Amino acid sequence: MKQDELHGSCLCGGVRYRAALPVFHASHCYCTMCQKQHGAAAGSYANVAGAGFVVEQGAELITEYASSAEGRRGFCRVCGSTLFWRSTQSPDRIAITLGTLEPEYDGIVQRELFVDQKPAWLPHA
Ligand SMILES: [Zn+2]
Ligand SMILES: [Zn+2]
Repeated sequence: MKQDELHGSCLCGGVRYRAALPVFHASHCYCTMCQKQHGAAAGSYANVAGAGFVVEQGAELITEYASSAEGRRGFCRVCGSTLFWRSTQSPDRIAITLGTLEPEYDGIVQRELFVDQKPAWLPHA
């Protein structure tokens, strides 16, 4: 069955959202801000239309952190799950985190960003 939207939720289940397809591109971002926020090697995102992003449950649990003048990072204040990154300069797009999608994201990841900051402790292929 072909889906026309993506569904996601945070770790505690308090926040649920949906996002309309298409995904313009998906990326792994290795910038140091993504590493800090995710506590991981990268932030992994699907870039979708901002207008198609709907928080279905738990909007009051989402805190947004302005990590720079350009971007805001949304997360669940109960469990800490990172949910999205959005640009203050292009509000027509929003980047939702691949790890919060259910079922698992089955598209391809086309882009790797800030590969010069990729940590050396990642497994080597
Ligand atoms: Zn949560
Ligand atoms: Zn990043």
